[in-house]
Amino acid sequence: MSFTVTATDGAARAGILRTAHGDVATPAFMPVGTKATVKTLDPDELRGLGASIILGNTYHLHFRPGDELVAELGGLHRFMGWEGPILTDSGGFQVFSLRDTILAVGDEGVTFRSVYDGAAAAFTPETVARIQANLGSDIAMCLDVCPPAASTRAEHEEAVRLTSAWAALQLAAPRAPGQLVFGIAQGGTDPELRRRSIEEIAALGFDGNALGGLAVGESREEMFDAVAWAAPLLPLERPRYFMGIGDPEGILGVIERGIDMFDCVLPTRTARTGSALTWEGRLNLRNARFARDPRPLDEDCSCPTCTRFSRAYVRHLVNQEEILGLRLLTLHNLRFVLDLTAGARAAIEQGRLATYTAHALDRLANAARGVIS
Ligand SMILES: [Zn+2]
Repeated sequence: MSFTVTATDGAARAGILRTAHGDVATPAFMPVGTKATVKTLDPDELRGLGASIILGNTYHLHFRPGDELVAELGGLHRFMGWEGPILTDSGGFQVFSLRDTILAVGDEGVTFRSVYDGAAAAFTPETVARIQANLGSDIAMCLDVCPPAASTRAEHEEAVRLTSAWAALQLAAPRAPGQLVFGIAQGGTDPELRRRSIEEIAALGFDGNALGGLAVGESREEMFDAVAWAAPLLPLERPRYFMGIGDPEGILGVIERGIDMFDCVLPTRTARTGSALTWEGRLNLRNARFARDPRPLDEDCSCPTCTRFSRAYVRHLVNQEEILGLRLLTLHNLRFVLDLTAGARAAIEQGRLATYTAHALDRLANAARGVIS
């Protein structure tokens, strides 16, 4: 068994996921390395921040530089110099979020135009299995249909049907040695469709299971409600992955509802827009009020940025479009969400997650009321 739950606290769990490139303590936040790089950072820096697993994007790596090229150079770990665990998505989310590029969707898979050169391309369960086998990731994700929240019930139902059919095909396809494969449940926030999807995916016996098709346009409240009743329906003894959440409130919300793994570009993307995630809320470092601010981005943070540099310095770098400014903000934002997640894990082990979460949400809410960024 590749996953062990080591502690529970309410619906929340702490555990260990064993992969071919090392163990992952859960709950775990996975920084996103879309194109074989977590933007602006090198692997040693990621490790130093406390990241144990990162995510790579099948869609982008398939087209640039090409998964066969990556395989020829020894696989994604060697190619990007990261020896720890890697999860690759299936590429389905990119295809279905670039809806204008879709040519056809059917039982065999999806055809679409590549965003790189407009050429027609096809993702089938077998091809995304092959691409992820070439990349050699530790965890491969199933191809799924991810409709926007505003889709009709009929569209959600068809997404559930195709996602299950594709999952069965992908499970039978060859994989890299030691590679785990996770299924994905769809169904939006519709209780009947979501339950059906979870039952069908769980019955296939994947190494882990994901809730897909949430955080795609529904309200926060609807999303949390759905996670609260859907997460416990996923197999207890397998890891549960929530795709696409990375803000502090969202991370705490899915952890307390029983999610073990999550990813999002938010911390790194926010950094590149010049903003810091802090206990005082989101700080826009371009703001003139930081011009003479000698304090670190966050007083409680022990990241390489906060231990050496002032808000005034980071603001100067960001306003002058110096590359170091984006790097310093990326280092800080990732440490902020990794520390928040590690703190939640420790709280679960000590049976005090409710207190930890309430305290954290209180601090963040006070910041939202009192601080203008
Ligand atoms: Zn920091």
